[in-house]
Amino acid sequence: MKYIADMHTHTVASTHAYSTVTENAAWAAKHGIKYLGMTDHGVAMQDAPDTWHFENLKTLPDYIEGVRVFRGIEANILDSAGAIDISPENESVYYRILEWVNVSMHVQTFRPSTKAEHTKAYLGVLKNPYVDVICHSESIKFDYDFDEVIRACGECGRLIEINECRLERKGTQTDRYLRMLDCCVKYGTGVIVGSDAHFYTHIGAFDLADSLLTDSGFPEELVVNSAEERFLGYIRKREERIK
Ligand SMILES: [Zn+2]
Ligand SMILES: [Zn+2]
Repeated sequence: MKYIADMHTHTVASTHAYSTVTENAAWAAKHGIKYLGMTDHGVAMQDAPDTWHFENLKTLPDYIEGVRVFRGIEANILDSAGAIDISPENESVYYRILEWVNVSMHVQTFRPSTKAEHTKAYLGVLKNPYVDVICHSESIKFDYDFDEVIRACGECGRLIEINECRLERKGTQTDRYLRMLDCCVKYGTGVIVGSDAHFYTHIGAFDLADSLLTDSGFPEELVVNSAEERFLGYIRKREERIK
């Protein structure tokens, strides 16, 4: 498949990432990526930028190097109620500025618990209308009820991420992604392929995720970032949702 968006990327604002937003955008432009999510880690992560980073994203132009750069975040899921690290006092500021919200469970910010608690957390986070994507949820540490969450995700029009970076690790994630993809087909839930790039050369490089989707015969119409109309269709629905 051909991909036109990469909505999970990091910049030097998270100091364990090594490229600027301009370097990211320039690389994206050269590789057919027209839409780029600038999604640095939410503030609960030790290595994350301050709230100032997110509040000041309004300073950025919409287009950098000809690429539409979405002001985004990879927020951390903090508890089994599905709270994320956008504090209530900052909510209105953040959400007025943020154009894309990835959510993830990380061991640094969510102590792995039971399958039931992880399921509850994901179901809780989907109640937040600003949330777009549940990221790298294949993690065995954060096992959850795929059927229940992926069905709910499809019902409220949110997306499940196929994370290229996680597929590069050795382990069980391929099997788990295949089981997740089966559920996406069963419930008509959309997926998005994301690089989770911490260096610009990883942006838009989706070899493993693409093979996984293609080899498993996954329906292309459920892959939100493999066609511009589909991606923009999602953005329109998002705008409706948060109105
Ligand atoms: Zn990171
Ligand atoms: Zn992450």
